[in-house]
Amino acid sequence: MSTSSSDQLKPMLIGDQWVVREDDALESINPATGALNYRVSVADAALVDEAVATARAAAASRTWRDMLPHVRAQVLGRISDGIRANAEELARLQMIENGKVWSECQAQVASAAATYRYYAAVCETLGAEVTPSRGDYLSMTAYEPYGVVAAITPWNSPMTMEAQKIAPALAAGNAVVLKPSEVTPAVGLAVGRIALEAGLPPGILNVLPGTGSQTGKALIGHRDVRMISFTGGTITGRHIAAVAAQRLIPVALELGGKSPHIIFDDANLQAAVDGVVDGIFEGSGQSCVAGSRLFVQRSVLDQVLERLVARANSIRVDLPDAQGAQMGPVAGFRHRERIESLVDSARREKGEVLAGGRRPEGERFERGSFYLPTVIAGLSNQATAVREEIFGPVVCVLPFDDEDDLIAQANDTVFGLASGVWTANYQRAWRIARALEAGVVWINTYKQLSIATPFGGFKESGIGREKGVTGVRLYQQSKGIYWSMNPANLPA
Ligand code: NAD
Repeated sequence: MSTSSSDQLKPMLIGDQWVVREDDALESINPATGALNYRVSVADAALVDEAVATARAAAASRTWRDMLPHVRAQVLGRISDGIRANAEELARLQMIENGKVWSECQAQVASAAATYRYYAAVCETLGAEVTPSRGDYLSMTAYEPYGVVAAITPWNSPMTMEAQKIAPALAAGNAVVLKPSEVTPAVGLAVGRIALEAGLPPGILNVLPGTGSQTGKALIGHRDVRMISFTGGTITGRHIAAVAAQRLIPVALELGGKSPHIIFDDANLQAAVDGVVDGIFEGSGQSCVAGSRLFVQRSVLDQVLERLVARANSIRVDLPDAQGAQMGPVAGFRHRERIESLVDSARREKGEVLAGGRRPEGERFERGSFYLPTVIAGLSNQATAVREEIFGPVVCVLPFDDEDDLIAQANDTVFGLASGVWTANYQRAWRIARALEAGVVWINTYKQLSIATPFGGFKESGIGREKGVTGVRLYQQSKGIYWSMNPANLPA
């Protein structure tokens, strides 16, 4: 195996070859300092073709898909071990590429390792089914891999998002071509190395950095890609779904959100505000499930705003590796400009910026893409900042009067990814949980996630469900098998 890695120009992974390519190399920039981390080789259409051919050959050899499930599970388990053994490196790569604070990067590495461990267990235990027959035969449902799966991921949490796709796709017996975000290519490359070290057959996981318009486009259009699993923005997801529709291949989409976070007047207000703060400001708000629309029952609006503004102003924004840092920069300078333009739109639309709404001051922030935790009140539910996904540390606060008013406002969005409700009334919690149009509802908590629970969006937040035991089925097609017990006995 060649490992011609360079600190200056990172190679891509095709089979067991580390391929360096100077042309169009990506520049990885540290959003906390503006410094160049390294450059990264990019796959053009010819290299995408080579990687898909390698993946296809690896899938066709059947070494991986026919490996006994408990043996395949051992490989997945070793990948999990390898992620844990390389935790410092992986957390650091994510931190210098997307600016998340060190503690969150470490937690996400642990979560990714747990994801591989979980899918090792699923791989070993998930079987085929014998179905009720209507005659003298055995009927069953067997599950088979698609072959080559394209996995395309965003920059906000490459560690966990990529594990959530790669682990079940491999458990299902597929070969995977991963195209990580152009902002965060290094985590996927490091996991590719760890997978090879763990004994994954070469070609079963290939990692191709590059832009969406070049590498992504070539990958989703490739004739030998048989399934696409995408996490990212809704506009990109719609485009990928259209390409998949033309090609008649399945697609799984985890897309954007504008999640309602709800506080009723009987809630424990301190716990609720703590949940709101974590739900929007963790990861600088760059989370698909961020609770970015806060609905507060009118009778407690002032109290909640007072507590929320105090908490937002006390969040320690700092360099991601600084001791005690709670919020780092946002992932890039262009992204910060977009956040700023949406906050400006809120000001124009009569919003009142009660906290943040600007860059932090001080020398240590000058070279990074920092933005303060921001609380905006006074907007209508139709305002641009309330309707569009900002994907930054900005929460818009809106009042509601009663349950009907709340449900009408909360569901008045094209998105339907997540939601949260704080109330002491368990019957109301149940009613609200069932009425919200969202793939996840948190009751008196927020952002707690388990790999064992299926996850995905309603409406324009996505199609399909990742995670859970059935997360493996996303990457398999079922086959009905009828096996006669009496060949002479054909149906009349
Ligand atoms: P994005 O849609 O811009 O990019 C996502 C990925 O798609 C990147 O790898 C990009 O290179 C690729 N891509 C772009 N155009 C493409 C094309 N034409 N063909 C193929 N690939 C293409 O999203 P982003 O800015 O990287 O991430 C932020 C978005 O991701 C937000 O909307 C966020 O809500 C969403 N997200 C969703 C979830 C979820 O689970 N629902 C999780 C995390 C992030």
